[in-house]
Amino acid sequence: MSEATEKTFNLKARDDRFFRAAESVLKQYTIARRPQLEDGVAVFDVTGGTSAYVVKVHPEWRCAPQCNCPDAENRAKTNVRGYCKHVIGVLLENDEFRCQLLEAFL
Ligand SMILES: [Zn+2]
Repeated sequence: MSEATEKTFNLKARDDRFFRAAESVLKQYTIARRPQLEDGVAVFDVTGGTSAYVVKVHPEWRCAPQCNCPDAENRAKTNVRGYCKHVIGVLLENDEFRCQLLEAFL
């Protein structure tokens, strides 16, 4: 496979994964935002999967969104800068944070 083909392939795989993940989160999970910022960060409880996870998003994007699921530490970290499906779901659901999805594509 040429370098260019490989790059296209990787991008496509990443994008497919991204959209599948977003769809599964928005359909199956419940995303609840905690009423107060915690240490200046918006905190979301994501439930409905095998475990409950916590996603943290900085309102001014001073740091990348974080999730405490295993995928965020492993596969997602390599492929999409730590943007696991929970982070993607939270960002998609919240207009004010949606721009932070850009990071996963840069
Ligand atoms: Zn996660």
